[in-house]
Amino acid sequence: MEQTLSLIKPDAVERNLIGKIVTVFEENNLTIKEIKKIHVTLEFAQKFYEMHSERPFFKDLCSYISSGPLVAIVLEGDNAIQKNRDLMGATNPSEAQEGTIRKMFAISIDKNSVHGSDSSESSKREIDLFFKQ
Ligand code: ATP
Ligand code: MG
Repeated sequence: MEQTLSLIKPDAVERNLIGKIVTVFEENNLTIKEIKKIHVTLEFAQKFYEMHSERPFFKDLCSYISSGPLVAIVLEGDNAIQKNRDLMGATNPSEAQEGTIRKMFAISIDKNSVHGSDSSESSKREIDLFFKQ
């Protein structure tokens, strides 16, 4: 069993998509181990996304993720990290495959509705940031 961090980002929370997105996880054998709705500070967002601090979109990314409440989820299941990434689809929803969360719900590359840890190291780090501090 593996764990991964999912975020339902502010654009999806604002559009009442929490239930629809959680349903995708549950129907694909990912179990909700922890879940909470939280409005993070700009400082927290900067820490969470620190690996992107040199990217041109860093400032907008951090202000967006701290712009309204999000839902943080610890998902558990076989191959949970990769499975969640597959269910999410490509970062840019215009490139996401049919049936993926981003294809179904995302608005744009920045308002792309979900986040998922991309490795076991980032999963540990991100679960710790959201649930163990
Ligand atoms: P996430 O980390 O949110 O799960 P990801 O792993 O698919 O998404 P990353 O490359 O880690 O994508 O980028 C983090 C976030 O930064 C993306 O989800 C997206 O919102 C934003 N982002 C990435 N690339 C761009 C870009 N070229 N322009 C604007 N925003 C971007
Ligand atoms: Mg990422």
